[in-house]
Amino acid sequence: MLRVGLGTDMHRLVSGRELRLGGVSIASERGALGHSDADVVLHALADALLGAVGAGDIGELFPDHDPAFRGLDSAQILRRSLAELRKRDTQLVNADIVIELERPKVLPHRNAIRARIAELLECRLEQVFVKAKTAEGMGPVGEGLAIAATAIVLVDQAP
Ligand code: MG
Repeated sequence: MLRVGLGTDMHRLVSGRELRLGGVSIASERGALGHSDADVVLHALADALLGAVGAGDIGELFPDHDPAFRGLDSAQILRRSLAELRKRDTQLVNADIVIELERPKVLPHRNAIRARIAELLECRLEQVFVKAKTAEGMGPVGEGLAIAATAIVLVDQAP
């Protein structure tokens, strides 16, 4: 049975933090603030995968008040989501991700991000797509105060 999942995430951008997108470090004046490494791409994607199989959400599995998850590498969150799919005999069909960010440009990093996600999800590069857009100067993203991501996934659960 095909199932769909949707995930979104948004973090504040501040100076003095590393910017991580899809498990890749991106050179940037500002990075996302968060309890973990604040990787909006992996957070949105993990929530989409968990939602597709009804396995909860990352706020439940990795509470941001738990000191054990401070500075957490979000790759661990994505691996846990993949494990939840596998427990339910479910395979990823494809994932599509939109990043909203005023700067820097994401396009030069797109294939590195896709490759890292494909590695973490143990799937083919062709199953993962990533694109980015600006907010044309409007709202918290447009003013450079925030970064956001949306992920949608299609999965196939064995009968
Ligand atoms: Mg997050």
